[in-house]
Amino acid sequence: MEDPEEVDLHTPNAARMYDYYLGGKDNFASDRDAAEKALEFAPQIRLAARQNRAFMGRAVRYLAKAGVRQFLDVGTGLPTQSNVHEVAQDAAPDSRVVYVDNDPVVLAHGRAILGGAENVHIVHADLRSPKEILDSHEVRQRLDFDAPIAILLVAIVHFLQDDDDPESIVARFREALPAGGHLVLSHVCGEALPRSVPGVTEVYKHSTTPIVARSPDRIAGFFGDLELAEPGLVNVAQWRPDSEETRRIAEKYRRPYFLAGVGR
Ligand code: SAH
Repeated sequence: MEDPEEVDLHTPNAARMYDYYLGGKDNFASDRDAAEKALEFAPQIRLAARQNRAFMGRAVRYLAKAGVRQFLDVGTGLPTQSNVHEVAQDAAPDSRVVYVDNDPVVLAHGRAILGGAENVHIVHADLRSPKEILDSHEVRQRLDFDAPIAILLVAIVHFLQDDDDPESIVARFREALPAGGHLVLSHVCGEALPRSVPGVTEVYKHSTTPIVARSPDRIAGFFGDLELAEPGLVNVAQWRPDSEETRRIAEKYRRPYFLAGVGR
């Protein structure tokens, strides 16, 4: 763990803002203030964050049922309800999960809460160094890249700037997938709320994690030539909704605001 002194409490950060949208307690005043500002521009963010979290749970359950037992989750987020390892191990107790994040607060909480669980590990690394993640001893020791594996890039690629070359970064992860491998990805898309995007983008510019909403075409491109599982690339709530409430939301909001898919 990094020295807590290194945690900047005054600059808002995406992990803790997201925790605030989800109703969590692991956030500071600066995060709450920034999150409230973002919500002024787009009150829908709170619901969208919760739907994204629920999408991730449905995708993991779907994959566990399809026989996947290994999950590499890049962009862990702060531990909340229905963490990836809980969902996966609930469906298949022998599931192994490696979490990756670059945020010191996420790592500290993660090590405390997830660290004790069986077959669960958390690694400090940056999405912008895909080779470092994929070739690391910590990852290779725990995950067998010759057996089916799911790589999760859920609500994280929108924190890559265009200068980071997100297409190449995501491609490195796709290329690491063995036969029977899956890519789970969700990404903010501004199409449904074009007038909110500049304001929200501006709020995140003052955080340690500026955000970039992208078009449906660019988000689709992250899947490369993987085959998308039904129903394809859709808003988070539309991906195999499993409750009346989610179905209702899926029906009501059809224009792209937060796209998600599972490629194989
Ligand atoms: N995947 C979870 C959490 C999303 S919040 C979910 O969808 O519910 C985004 C997470 O990505 C945060 O924990 C943040 O710390 C992490 N993150 C953002 N940029 C990152 C980077 N460059 N490298 C590693 N982690 C990053």
